[in-house]
Order: sequence, then structure tokens, then C-alpha cells
Amino acid sequence: MLRRLIFALSRSRTGARIAMHAPGVRRFSRRFVAGTSRADAIEAVRRLNAAGFEATVSFLGEAVTSPAEVDGAVAEFSAFAAAVKAEGLRSHLSIKLTELGLDFDRDLARRSLNVVLARAEEAGTFVRIDMEDSHHTQATLDLFREARATHRNAGAVIQSSLRRSDADVEALAAEGAPVRLVKGAYREPPDVAYASKIDVDAAFVRLADAYLARMAEGGWLAVATHDARMVRAAVRSVEAHGVPRDRVEFQMLYGIRGDLQRQLRDAGYRVRVYVPYGSHWYPYLMRRLAEHPANLWFFVRNAFRRG
Ligand SMILES: Cc1cc2nc3c(=O)[nH]c(=O)nc-3n(C[C@H](O)[C@H](O)[C@H](O)COP(=O)(O)OP(=O)(O)OC[C@H]3O[C@@H](n4cnc5c(N)ncnc54)[C@H](O)[C@@H]3O)c2cc1C
Repeated sequence: MLRRLIFALSRSRTGARIAMHAPGVRRFSRRFVAGTSRADAIEAVRRLNAAGFEATVSFLGEAVTSPAEVDGAVAEFSAFAAAVKAEGLRSHLSIKLTELGLDFDRDLARRSLNVVLARAEEAGTFVRIDMEDSHHTQATLDLFREARATHRNAGAVIQSSLRRSDADVEALAAEGAPVRLVKGAYREPPDVAYASKIDVDAAFVRLADAYLARMAEGGWLAVATHDARMVRAAVRSVEAHGVPRDRVEFQMLYGIRGDLQRQLRDAGYRVRVYVPYGSHWYPYLMRRLAEHPANLWFFVRNAFRRG
């Protein structure tokens, strides 16, 4: 019920307008978002790199509605890629295809993705194509595969909540395509996604194991979760299948489970932190609230604090 309400609020323009101008909410957002500017993101990546973490940076600007906004997003991704090279940052880019116009002009999204991949290639870095809600799954995987035919620095994301994901993981593993496995952050209908957390978690363990079992054929798995049980299961699969440590990594979101991030880093695993930045932070923040309603208390407390 609460999750449904938070998801509804995440899509509300009025909710966004009120929240983004409330100083308390902006302050709260800094727990999960590096800041609004590229300089904020660069500073956060520098700090993470110095502490022994890798990064992947996400410019928050999803669901754009005009070619001009797409041009702006492409310029921002390209500028960040240039900064990676110029400043010697250890950071990938994470992008959403709706930021590149997928909802209104698929060709524009395709062309823009190719530009971003080319700029990232020049900077010697990698681009992860985030997965959005299930209306976008097939188109996202199609554009990923098309782009990967010319750019090898692209990776896909699979959500364990979706019923189709066993088949997708099987196919991507056979192609040796890099995969980030997540549980899935979107509210989906029951014919498309598992309704119970038990099923989503069981699928996560199963999909990680299925991909790792096929890594002799190539590939690279990013296990993206804050769930210690999922992490332990993935470590068991890595060891059982004898997967070299440099072919697998753990990923977590900025500001979440720093203790688990440090634990994995200290155990010798590569840990990559997803660093979001940009002025369009409201829907991202609401998704983080929806997946962990305990955050709501901090949110409300901050929202009504002044100064
Ligand atoms: C690096 C990364 C990239 C992602 N990319 C995508 C993507 O492309 N598409 C997509 O749909 N989803 C993506 N997600 C989000 C993902 O789908 C989940 O919604 C999110 O990770 C929460 O699930 P969980 O695996 O952490 O497990 P959960 O069962 O939700 O949480 C396990 C534990 O983690 C902690 N935790 C989890 N979330 C929070 C939070 N918000 N605040 C505080 N503590 C929390 C709590 O201790 C909780 O008990 C990504 C997640 C990560 C880490």
C-alpha cells in the first residue's frame, strides 16, 4: 500500500515541484544523490576511488520529451566521459535510453547511444545501459545488441523480478555480453513480474548462478544488490564455478550499505558504486524510498526541518 503510494508520488509532477523546492527534501536527497552538477559527481568519484572503490556515474534526466533535451543529455555524458580521461577517474557511465529519446524517437535513441559509446570508447571507459520498466525491456535489449555489434564497451541490465529473465540471461551469457543483475526497481503487473519477494530473491540467486556457470564462454557479471544474502549466494557461485575475480564485481548505490561495500572491498572483490547526479533527482529518490520504506521516517523528519 505504502509502496504503491510512493510509486504514484514518484510520477507526480506536483509532488516533484513541491519536493524539489523544499530545502529539507533537497538536503535529504544528498544522502542518495551526489549533487546537481558534474563537478559534484567528479568529486564523489574522486573520494570513492581514493577509498578503493570503482564508480559508475548516472546523469539523472530520464523520460525526456524533446530532441533538444536528448542533445543536452548526450553532451553531458560526453563531457563526463572526457572528464574520466582528463582527471584519471576510475568510473563508468550508466545511462537510460529514455534519456536518449527512446519514448518518442527510437532512431534518435539509437544514434545518440552510438555517440555516447564512441565518446566513452575514446575515454577508455564503459557504458552500462540501465533497465527501465517492462515496457522498455525488449527495445532496450534490442538497441543494446545493435550497439554492441560496433561498440564492445556496452553492457546490459537484467531484472530478476521479470518472468522473462531466465531466457534473457541464457541468451546474453551465450553471447558473452556483460550483464548487471538487479532485482528490479519498478512496479510491474503480475503476468510480467513475480509478485512475491521470495520469488524475486530466488530468481536473483538462480540467474546469477546460471550466468556464472557459463562464464567459460566469456562475459562479465556485475551483482548489483544491497542484500547480504544475495551477495553470499553469488560468492558461493563464483567459487563453485571457479570464476576469476576480475570477471565479476559487486555494485551498490551511493549512500546505501557502506558497511557491505567495505566488507566486499576488504575481501578483495571489486566494488563499484553507482553515483547519480543532476537536477532531475526526484523520481530516483522516490524509487529509493519505495524499495526501503524505512527511509520514509528520515525523509519526513528532514522535509519538515528548516535551514
Ligand atoms: C548498482 C545498482 C544499479 C541498479 N540498476 C538498476 C537498473 O538498471 N534497473 C532497475 O530496475 N533497478 C536497478 N537497481 C535497483 C534494484 O533493482 C533494486 O531496486 C535495489 O537494488 C534494491 O534491491 P536490493 O537488491 O538491494 O534488495 P532489497 O531486498 O530491496 O534490500 C536488501 C537490503 O538492502 C538495504 N536497502 C535496499 N534498498 C535500500 C534503500 N533504498 N535504502 C536503504 N537501504 C536499502 C536494506 O538493508 C535491505 O534490507 C540498481 C541497483 C544497484 C545496486
